[in-house]
Amino acid sequence: MNKDIATPIRTRAILERYGFSFKKSLGQNFLIDTNILQRIVDFAEIGEDTGTIEIGPGIGALTEQLARNSKKVVAFEIDQRLLPILSDTLSPYENVKIIHKDVLEADVQAVIDQEFAGMDDLMVVANLPYYVTTPIIMKLLEEQLPIRGIVVMLQKEVANRISASPGTKEYGSLSIAIQYYTHAETVMIVPKTVFVPQPNVDSAVIRLTRREKPAVLVKDENFFFQVTRSSFAQRRKTILNNLTSQLPDGKQKKEEILSALSAADIEPTRRGETLSLEEFGRLSDELYTYFH
Ligand code: SAM
Repeated sequence: MNKDIATPIRTRAILERYGFSFKKSLGQNFLIDTNILQRIVDFAEIGEDTGTIEIGPGIGALTEQLARNSKKVVAFEIDQRLLPILSDTLSPYENVKIIHKDVLEADVQAVIDQEFAGMDDLMVVANLPYYVTTPIIMKLLEEQLPIRGIVVMLQKEVANRISASPGTKEYGSLSIAIQYYTHAETVMIVPKTVFVPQPNVDSAVIRLTRREKPAVLVKDENFFFQVTRSSFAQRRKTILNNLTSQLPDGKQKKEEILSALSAADIEPTRRGETLSLEEFGRLSDELYTYFH
């Protein structure tokens, strides 16, 4: 087997050979610990029939482990300077394709159709650039891609918010947006020491397993998300106060909001952070008629 890319010595040698300088603005913190990488691959349950999509391969540390275990890997990398490095470090692997593109601009569904035709088991696996973690995850979920799930490294604080339960201080509109589409778990906490350069924050790995259908069935998804975001606009306020101040013409529609809360069996004095996804679903369906 080829020597691992993700060791401190090999990584340093690659960076020196190419005179590579990290761009903080692109969230470049590279992993130098193969044990962590193997655990990520295990959590993602990558097998020989799996097609894997990676975001931000860097110098190929994770890509290499994915290539050894997957049928095929397609990786999106925004930084052109990494392309010659990747074609060198990943040259032993014939099942890897690098796409030079900002993943937020990419037509991922078209890439799936083209690169993974006939493959049923698709996973997204990444050590995400931390400056765009949430937009990337939300894009992948909102586009309803035919993937089994997403296993990604990100800031521990964001991981905690994503997998939070109602009634905790981390629970908010991000927890709801992601748990609506997936079953979310934090599966590993990762120390700063396994990266070069070391990030300022602690990291964690989350596993998002796509639900066959959303966690709650609602009349209008966009309105459901609008209601949840409004309910957390000011965390110390009651749900009634947040909804009246945030929903369009909310102040004039206070009586209607009160009726909807009562029909959904939710006390107007409760705070958004205590409501489950089911309660938000009921509430947004009751509010829907008054706002459409
Ligand atoms: N996968 C490598 C590893 O684990 O060592 C590198 C991970 S590093 C945290 C994030 C990578 O994402 C960098 O290579 C960076 O250039 C790339 N990147 C940043 N923003 C991106 C974007 N919008 N689309 C695609 N890649 C991006």
